[in-house]
Amino acid sequence: MKPFHHADGVLHAEAVALPRIAEAVGTPAYVYSAAALRSAARRFRAALADIPRKHIAFAVKANPNPAVLDVLAREGFGADIVSGGELVAALDGGILPEEIVFSGTGKTQAELMQALDVGIGQFNLELEAEGRLLSRLAVERGTRVAAVLRVNPDVDARTHAKITTGRAESKFGVPMAEAAAIYDRLAALDGLDMRGIALHIGSQITDLAPLEDAYRRAGELLATLRTGGHRVTHVDLGGGLGVSYRSGEPDADVEVYGAMVARVTQGWNVTLMFEPGRFIAAHAGVLLTAVTWVKPGSAHPFIVVDAAMNDLMRPALYDAWHAFSAVEPSGRRIVADIVGPVCETGDTFARAREIDDVKAGDLCVFHTVGAYGATMASTYNGRSLVPEVLVDGDSATVIAERLDAHAIARQRSGRRRIACARSPVLHAS
Ligand SMILES: *Cc1c(COP(=O)(O)O)cnc(C)c1O
Repeated sequence: MKPFHHADGVLHAEAVALPRIAEAVGTPAYVYSAAALRSAARRFRAALADIPRKHIAFAVKANPNPAVLDVLAREGFGADIVSGGELVAALDGGILPEEIVFSGTGKTQAELMQALDVGIGQFNLELEAEGRLLSRLAVERGTRVAAVLRVNPDVDARTHAKITTGRAESKFGVPMAEAAAIYDRLAALDGLDMRGIALHIGSQITDLAPLEDAYRRAGELLATLRTGGHRVTHVDLGGGLGVSYRSGEPDADVEVYGAMVARVTQGWNVTLMFEPGRFIAAHAGVLLTAVTWVKPGSAHPFIVVDAAMNDLMRPALYDAWHAFSAVEPSGRRIVADIVGPVCETGDTFARAREIDDVKAGDLCVFHTVGAYGATMASTYNGRSLVPEVLVDGDSATVIAERLDAHAIARQRSGRRRIACARSPVLHAS
């Protein structure tokens, strides 16, 4: 049975009817399926069955809810984090510190110290200066930490421009041509146990050729480093596998991906690390919303729903397409624009789309929003932070409460004076 399916004409998440959830927490709300998370996690792992030594770390930024991370921790997943906040989420989700990998272009000294104090498994360094700082902090603590160097393989992932990360002009990693020299210098530092390299070329990748290209380049660097006398034991291949947002189109072929990885990395003799985010979580979530108005438009009606771009930013940010359907479809179809209440033309989920006929008050869902959905939510336009519900079989649990925008605003308000008198003027040197 599909995790989201109709039974008696009503859309269910596993064994729970979605109207029941709307009644309990209101709309909009994210609803996740634990079974869908587990099945994607198992499918990903099974596709890598031929890889003898591997570590799979869920990219927390795709869905940092600790209850979601807990489901994946129980599947043996570690975590790939990009901030101190995500470190706390991963630990709250029951992921062991040694299973955590810290990626990210702008880790601050405070974040590096936080991660050192927790004892995470690996730091993915993005630049030489970061490695020098990390080494010094580790030495101050009397330890040595495992680190890899992220390289920029200069390949085009052929995905949306805002989620391609492996081109020479992108901000991520060090240039391939300089990688060996930087690695030499980092490996000489007392606080670092340099054990390999990392790359991540982008997200929502369905064409595996750029990935293969990037992995081959990593293989060449691996050989160069070993020739240079380095003991390389880990290569982090990143994430990026895409999913289908439209019915009828396939997800990235994870089995073909697994076979490609096995072929390209044959003889590398390292532990391979993976950081899938979207592939694990995207299909596991829907955004439940209610129709507020059906407003006449010039060409077709506007379906004004109570979810908006602040709850699901992907359409506004990436022109993303999310399937939309009625929770209790009548069988009639219409063509409409689907929009939210936010005062931005970008608050448009779909244009001239053929959808289920809906009227004010009807419950609907946007599909495939388990990744990069709730995590990007904001309170723009004074809107509340959207709640999240995790369904597992016939149980449903609120795993994030709706947080009213006015409550957040009040918590942040007040008038705290900054002491300005006689403070020394700081000059940039
Ligand atoms: C975003 C990101 C991922 C996950 O990407 P997906 O496309 O969701 O699989 C993995 N690794 C790094 C370094 C990332 O920035």
